[in-house]
Amino acid sequence: IISIDNVRKSYGHFEVLKGISLDVPRGQVVALLGPSGSGKSTLLRCINHLETINAGKIHVNGELIGYEERGHRLHQLPDKQIARQRRAIGMVFQSFNLFRHMTVLDNVMSGPLQVLRQNRGEARTKALELLGLVGLSDKADSYPSQLSGGQQQRVAIARTLAMEPKVLLLDEPTSALDPELSKEVISTIRGLADLGYTMMIATHEMSIASSFCDRAVFMADGHVVEDRPAAEFFAAPREARTRQFLDHYA
Ligand code: ATP
Ligand code: MG
Repeated sequence: IISIDNVRKSYGHFEVLKGISLDVPRGQVVALLGPSGSGKSTLLRCINHLETINAGKIHVNGELIGYEERGHRLHQLPDKQIARQRRAIGMVFQSFNLFRHMTVLDNVMSGPLQVLRQNRGEARTKALELLGLVGLSDKADSYPSQLSGGQQQRVAIARTLAMEPKVLLLDEPTSALDPELSKEVISTIRGLADLGYTMMIATHEMSIASSFCDRAVFMADGHVVEDRPAAEFFAAPREARTRQFLDHYA
């Protein structure tokens, strides 16, 4: 459902992604691993066209992202089309980015109301269901400032799900949280994996990658160095670069 084909991305003269190819089938959960600066966030941001790419193609759900092909050339899509494409691609960030002046319920309902044009009743029913899914039914009327970091991140996840994305990209979803609060967010993400969501999760939290991801993709120096079923990846990493990385976390 996500197809990344030989994608290159540079910032000035510095090439961060040097030809990344990756196909993620529907329902797969991919851990994106690699040292700091290896391009994990950049890759996720390219997938929903928060960054333009310098070469290659990205398809999500069969649709070329960010560009249209005219003859042999690619032209950037109009903003409106890009916004439409982004709706199918849910993104969860390290910082939760909730609306501070809105209740939890209103945070989750805002996208469906404003963007999907759902009616209030429909949006509310759906939002309450999603708050149940992330274990926060009792916090619907609270404000973000009244919640722990872990709870805020789970609201952010519910808000992303409310847009009914086809795929979910999570960039360091637990790195702003202390270990205890990370646990509840990890268990929420694990629940999404069980429900069959397609996810790419950039993380330094090896317990996410090793406990429920199907696949581990290890990036370094702008390349995919190792790409294997997660269980094999952790049991017997093949590349020296990977072993060195994993030793660091052991
Ligand atoms: P981390 O594990 O620390 O989150 P990462 O793998 O997500 O790292 P990226 O954030 O994708 O790494 O950054 C890859 C490289 O690109 C880094 O060297 C970074 O400094 C550089 N970079 C990222 N964004 C920009 C930008 N907007 N302008 C210039 N350079 C950038
Ligand atoms: Mg990053």
